[in-house]
Amino acid sequence: MANFDYLFKYLLIGDSGVGKSNLLLRFADDVFSETHIATIGVDFKIRTVNIENNIVQLHIWDTAGQDRFKSITSSFYRGAHGIMLVYDVTDMDSFINVEKWLQEVDKQRGRDNSIILVGNKSDMTSKRVVTWEMGKEYADKLGVLYLETSAKTSTNVETLFLTMAADIKSHLVESKL
Ligand code: GDP
Ligand code: MG
Repeated sequence: MANFDYLFKYLLIGDSGVGKSNLLLRFADDVFSETHIATIGVDFKIRTVNIENNIVQLHIWDTAGQDRFKSITSSFYRGAHGIMLVYDVTDMDSFINVEKWLQEVDKQRGRDNSIILVGNKSDMTSKRVVTWEMGKEYADKLGVLYLETSAKTSTNVETLFLTMAADIKSHLVESKL
């Protein structure tokens, strides 16, 4: 018998260098790496959390080493409940490229999953080029959730992964009604 009530699959996508691997490391192992973590292939980690009195096992997939649009295979997207679309608040290109990542998501599987737009590296205040308002406005336009995070200082990392789980769970409940 499974020792959890739900199993959710998350995907981390976005340009190389925005901090996807560090968000995963921070959430799963509570560590941070100052260097770019160059993993080959697709990496994933598991963490079990409690959401509204349910035990939820999170399987979080990181596009390590192939974080370019179109280089991610459809099997990566298959069965995903939630997608974290990450950009770096100090890198305008990574914000502009969110649109291309979304096009890829649409092509692969449609918008039937929960999506959170994530502005990472919020600790780098002096180098910031994408404001909170720009991210929020874009997320509202897309109709997706929005959060700013810092994998370095842990700001909002726990909130990010738990918000995604709660959102997925609320969709499951809605579809049962
Ligand atoms: P990925 O290519 O998206 O997986 O990015 P990584 O997780 O490998 O991070 C790329 C670089 O950004 C590394 O040097 C990290 O130390 C740094 N980094 C990641 N997240 C943060 C953050 O929240 N704040 C700061 N200051 N640096 C970060
Ligand atoms: Mg990585």
